[in-house]
Amino acid sequence: MWFYMKNSNLPTHHFKWLALFAVGLVVISACGGNPVVTPTSAPADTDATPPAATAAAYPMPSASPATEATPTPPEAYPGPVETALPAPNCASPATPLPALTEGPYFKSGSPERASLLDEGVVGTPLILTGYVLTPDCQPIANALLDFWQADGDGVYDNAGYRLRGHQFTDENGYYRLETVVPGLYPGRTEHIHVKVQPPGGAVLTTQLFFPDVTENQGDGIFSPLLLVTFTESTDGLTARFDFVVGGG
Ligand code: FE
Repeated sequence: MWFYMKNSNLPTHHFKWLALFAVGLVVISACGGNPVVTPTSAPADTDATPPAATAAAYPMPSASPATEATPTPPEAYPGPVETALPAPNCASPATPLPALTEGPYFKSGSPERASLLDEGVVGTPLILTGYVLTPDCQPIANALLDFWQADGDGVYDNAGYRLRGHQFTDENGYYRLETVVPGLYPGRTEHIHVKVQPPGGAVLTTQLFFPDVTENQGDGIFSPLLLVTFTESTDGLTARFDFVVGGG
């Protein structure tokens, strides 16, 4: 090499590149001229336990995106149908109802029942509801109501208890009577007899009347203070009357 360098006319920097090339040849020769083989990785050891996944290698998915449909609220359960009681027709201080004659057809010992609609009863069915109240409009629970009346033809049952019956107001002072519209009989307009007695109180004996009955004006017992009020209903003919009684 040095010989070549000294006897050559080539520029000096060419000799430097030649020198580097020569050194490279020497290195390759020293290694036997075989290509350098890069060690491969060891064959897979199928029995080896694979490395546990790390959080860094397998980040857990974040919370699922809100792809679920918003749940539909359950339909409101209608629940049992409850009919709210009407407010009492009463303005405090209320005047107790007037007493009216008992008449000749009262019979004690009527059966306890809210419906007087025995089979074969003649007349237009009527549902009468209302309260028994004190003069300051407080409902009276467990008040006695004893009703008797003529049928639709104006006939009383004096042998038995047809269209006769008693009941007690509930815890709200409320009552409900199923009956028929009473008919006319000589000298009288349409009316229902009743005895009302608060627990431990005095008995009020009186009568109820119906609006727009021609015979009301010719009846010496009739009182406009005792007119029932017909009410709108899908249950047939319905009417309302609240009893205001003194004491209790
Ligand atoms: Fe009568």
